[in-house]
Amino acid sequence: MRAVEKHFGDLHVLKTINLTVHRGEVVVVIGPSGSGKSTLCRTINRLETIDSGEILVDGTPLPEEGKALAKLRADVGMVFQSFNLFAHKSVLDNVTLGPIKVRGMKSKEAKDHAMDLLRRVGVADQAAKLPAQLSGGQQQRVAIARALAMQPKVMLFDEPTSALDPEMINEVLDVMTELARSGMTMVVVTHEMGFARRAADRVVFMDQGEIVEEKDPETFFTAPESDRAKDFLGKIL
Ligand code: ADP
Ligand code: MG
Repeated sequence: MRAVEKHFGDLHVLKTINLTVHRGEVVVVIGPSGSGKSTLCRTINRLETIDSGEILVDGTPLPEEGKALAKLRADVGMVFQSFNLFAHKSVLDNVTLGPIKVRGMKSKEAKDHAMDLLRRVGVADQAAKLPAQLSGGQQQRVAIARALAMQPKVMLFDEPTSALDPEMINEVLDVMTELARSGMTMVVVTHEMGFARRAADRVVFMDQGEIVEEKDPETFFTAPESDRAKDFLGKIL
């Protein structure tokens, strides 16, 4: 992201955002509510447009529309707080649909790949069920499998555990930790500081639309520089 600016009306939500995420890197974005974290994520797969600046994925500027945009959205996997699964499709169909429609994968191949992914996230035995028959933690793991099925270049997670009951948070974070270790490029908005310490290569702290600090997790959590980061950490730790 180069000098990215974004307004909602009079509200300046992204202020000159410069951010590079390298291949294989895990970047955790933290900051107070309303600081622009979700908007930042959403601009990366063009769920939000930007006013000025530039966003490149794997060296290519974001396409505006059409097939190229569908392809970009396949390359940039996104997992939301509210799992956003297709309610009337089975778990398996949720995972195979994108690869068949967007990637042009054959049904058999898509199914085999989907079952591998469902096994990887620990819900293969739920493949025939509808999302509503699963727990929140299981649904979120299906959402991760669905994004992975598109073979994305980068995965964005926007508070993936915030809507979960406490006992289900770790089963999702464990999947994300495994994904991080496997070398996936990830941008993760989360309040789970344990995950940030364990999995992040870098912590990006946002406040009021700005990136205020960027540090390795150890340095950030033990020696935050800015008063804003100190204040935020004081409230949540
Ligand atoms: P965060 O994810 O850090 O909580 P957001 O990116 O969701 O922050 O929001 C940043 C600011 O932009 C907030 O003040 C929010 O109310 C505002 N905002 C977000 N989406 C919209 C929208 N679609 N229209 C108008 N304002 C929005
Ligand atoms: Mg948000």
